[in-house]
Amino acid sequence: MNTQVLQPRVSQAAEAPLIARDIHKSFGEFEVLKGISLTSHQHDVTAILGSSGSGKSTFLRCLNLLEVPDSGELVVHGQPVHIRRNRHGEPVPVDEKLVERIRARLGMVFQQFNLWSHMTVLENCMIGPLKVLKQPRAEVEERARYYLNKVGLDNRMDHYPAHLSGGQQQRAAIARALCMEPEVMLFDEPTSALDPELVGEVLLVMRKLAEEGRTMIVVTHEMAFAREVSSHVMFLHQGRVEEEGPPQQLFQQQASERFRQFLSTNF
Ligand code: ADP
Ligand code: MG
Repeated sequence: MNTQVLQPRVSQAAEAPLIARDIHKSFGEFEVLKGISLTSHQHDVTAILGSSGSGKSTFLRCLNLLEVPDSGELVVHGQPVHIRRNRHGEPVPVDEKLVERIRARLGMVFQQFNLWSHMTVLENCMIGPLKVLKQPRAEVEERARYYLNKVGLDNRMDHYPAHLSGGQQQRAAIARALCMEPEVMLFDEPTSALDPELVGEVLLVMRKLAEEGRTMIVVTHEMAFAREVSSHVMFLHQGRVEEEGPPQQLFQQQASERFRQFLSTNF
């Protein structure tokens, strides 16, 4: 096995469900992430801001190993993921079982919903817990109905994604992620593909999750959401953390000129 699999360290898991240290990632010659660190404590809502191309999606994808970082360390629920290189200096793929465990801990919601089009909303929510977690069907269905109810789709469970609005599809995608009972929810611009009139219903669901104390990492251009809902804001610029801190502080002081510029074009 290429990746060292260690037993979770319980004390650390209790401290922070997700730790990323000094994550680097290049595509060819282009270094997209130049050493990004983030500790997500329980109940933290971290907003990741930054212009298009600053590396937000790549960072999020590195967290759940949709991209393998070139270097750095991840600790998910106390489970370390060491990035290893072979003798040519290339990153070694992470063990599949470990990847599966990590992804089950981190629920991901994408800009484009990514629902299975040949399955109903309810089936979309059940497939992960059935196939990956191998939980009993009755329990899985009960939980799926519970979360679909919670995101306001109780009367859409037997519909196919194509028959739902974008806002409903995204709420279904959120319910699907919740059904895996993840430690941390990752959102990559969840409202960017929506018609403006549908943005609010999705933000409302996310706001409720934050109020319930869910640990969330949200890449977003919704500045009001970042400002009002997040507990920590990270502003990325060209693959580096240019500025970070609690939203009250960041939005008031706007220490860096770049962040000021970013806000002036995004508010
Ligand atoms: P953001 O989400 O902040 O808009 P991304 O993380 O998607 O930024 O992309 C950061 C940079 O990395 C961009 O210049 C993008 O073109 C590049 N990039 C992202 N994914 C790939 C890839 N798979 N191959 C090559 N370049 C990529
Ligand atoms: Mg992106």
